[in-house]
Amino acid sequence: MHRQQRIAVVGAGLGGLTCAAFLQRLGFAVTVYEQAPAFARIGAGIILSANVMKVLRRLGLDRPLLEVGISPDAFVSRAWDTGETLYELKLDAASEQRFGGPYINVHRGDLHAVLATAVRPGSIVFGHCLVGLEPSEDAVRLVFENGARPEAHIVIGADGIRSKVREVLLGPEPPRFTGRVAQRAIFSAERLREHPVRDCTKWWGPDRHLLAYFMTPRRDEVYLMGSVPVASWESEEPVTRPSTELITAFANFHADIRRLVEVAGDVVVSPICDRPRHDRWSSGRIALLGDACHPVRPYMAAGGAMAVEDAAILSRCLAAIGDDDPADAFRCYAATRIPRVAEVQRISIENSWLYGPTATDWYFCYDAWTAPLTRQTAEPMDNP
Ligand SMILES: Cc1cc2nc3c(=O)[nH]c(=O)nc-3n(C[C@H](O)[C@H](O)[C@H](O)COP(=O)(O)OP(=O)(O)OC[C@H]3O[C@@H](n4cnc5c(N)ncnc54)[C@H](O)[C@@H]3O)c2cc1C
Repeated sequence: MHRQQRIAVVGAGLGGLTCAAFLQRLGFAVTVYEQAPAFARIGAGIILSANVMKVLRRLGLDRPLLEVGISPDAFVSRAWDTGETLYELKLDAASEQRFGGPYINVHRGDLHAVLATAVRPGSIVFGHCLVGLEPSEDAVRLVFENGARPEAHIVIGADGIRSKVREVLLGPEPPRFTGRVAQRAIFSAERLREHPVRDCTKWWGPDRHLLAYFMTPRRDEVYLMGSVPVASWESEEPVTRPSTELITAFANFHADIRRLVEVAGDVVVSPICDRPRHDRWSSGRIALLGDACHPVRPYMAAGGAMAVEDAAILSRCLAAIGDDDPADAFRCYAATRIPRVAEVQRISIENSWLYGPTATDWYFCYDAWTAPLTRQTAEPMDNP
């Protein structure tokens, strides 16, 4: 189906690319504007749970992702001091059947490369940093740092936690620093030598934790992500620090984890931020999705998942309700998404997901492509 409306997606991240791919398949003319000059292989892993994989399967991306990422045999929670297994969520054929899709851990660079194949060639415009929006009755003009000023009927802000689109909609407000930093390292599994590790383990300490998993089917690349409290943090940008940073932070942990951090090499440290809950996801012809709208703490591995689900629901709403006046579609999108995203925000702040036996069906079994759409406005709820 060919549709008249031109849609501009700002940001070629996880949410922006997924949204563009769906909207293009639904017949919309979509251009994605990305500030970066090109895609870079960012040094980090990402967990894609069954609810994400079901959405990406609709774009034909499940097989390519299974080729570059690993299907771990389980998600294991262990106590920081005794090493006791607190909980083990088996990830096997039975769980895949139950959740309706696989669970994959993958390098973000590899995920991005696969996602980009779902978007029509030539529809991602790099080197375009949005600096302003000028809405009129029928359209919105996008203003870029490089002087470009294209117009679109609909603008979707998928430009991440420091979103410019959000600033235009809601006013300037820096993200909320949570008092913690993420310490991330990637290294070759050869360094583990005679100390094998499980596919995916979260080590739970009293005031910090560390997640360790393989990112490839060959189990040759290991990813560590520690969350550690700090008194203060100045830089918005990630900084690279020597491995002593990680070794010191987890010095009192179980020997299994000390062996891991000792071979990890340099760590990339960045602040962990989120934003308080808000329910204004759109205005006029402009809508927000993913981290631009509702960044969550990375303790449920769900921020990217929410961006992907947003993309599917927003595309469905625009296709189902019509795009002449997108406000109706945006209301349906927000009403459908807010209760689920709010629960994910709450659990992510609590940092309790999979610590012990956890009811997971509501999260993993959800399919954003078939879930019912909510046509009325959601009731505003309290900020978490
Ligand atoms: C340590 C850590 C671990 C995490 N682990 C997981 C996990 O395992 N699973 C999971 O689901 N989520 C995880 N997340 C969360 C996940 O990374 C984010 O929620 C996800 O990347 C959000 O996707 P997005 O598309 O909304 O934004 P982003 O991925 O941030 O993409 C935004 C894009 O917009 C571009 N952009 C920004 N400003 C502009 C502008 N002015 N003009 C043009 N372009 C612009 C950026 O360059 C970028 O390409 C983790 C987060 C952290 C911090």
